[in-house]
Amino acid sequence: MDSSDQFLNLFESAGAIRRGHFELSSGLHSAMYVQCALVLQYPRYAERLGAALAACFAQDRVEVVVSPAMGGIIIGQEVARALPEPPGGSSGGTPALFVERDASGSMSLRRGFSLNPGQRVLVIEDVWTTGGSTLEAIRVVEEAGGVVVAVGALIDRSGGKIDFPVPARALLGLTIDSYQPAACPLCREGNPAVKPGSRFVRAGR
Ligand SMILES: [Zn+2]
Repeated sequence: MDSSDQFLNLFESAGAIRRGHFELSSGLHSAMYVQCALVLQYPRYAERLGAALAACFAQDRVEVVVSPAMGGIIIGQEVARALPEPPGGSSGGTPALFVERDASGSMSLRRGFSLNPGQRVLVIEDVWTTGGSTLEAIRVVEEAGGVVVAVGALIDRSGGKIDFPVPARALLGLTIDSYQPAACPLCREGNPAVKPGSRFVRAGR
């Protein structure tokens, strides 16, 4: 079984977790940048992470995985792949559905996705910051008749502070401080903050 140190190394080697001095899209500064898409772009890493996360829910008799788009889709698929075939299933495995924002900006099940009454659902996301997308997905699942039995994520960057209404497990827990630029201790050390997105574009040329 992989340890959380091994997962941390996997994220870091893929550039999905970077340490330095960053200006986030919120305008806040931080010593750490997290972008799960950079590790999930590698299918074998995604499969391995999905299997490890799925193992946390092996006893939950999950019948369907639901993820918030976009960030949760790949890891939701991989978690579903690794879960045991639900009883009475189609032999295609555990279905992996996703919720997405409609024109009004609220999450819903589209594309013909539906749940059976009482179906046992696991909600999977890539990163919890405030947990807002997972909480919205829980609401959508319940409105569609499903029962959310647990929620999971690759990374919980809240430091375990999110109050989910069901059991919650994350592969990695990170507490990532962020600062207003005027109060940033990294700025005081004299090194400029970089925008991780723009740096990535330059590195890709
Ligand atoms: Zn700073």
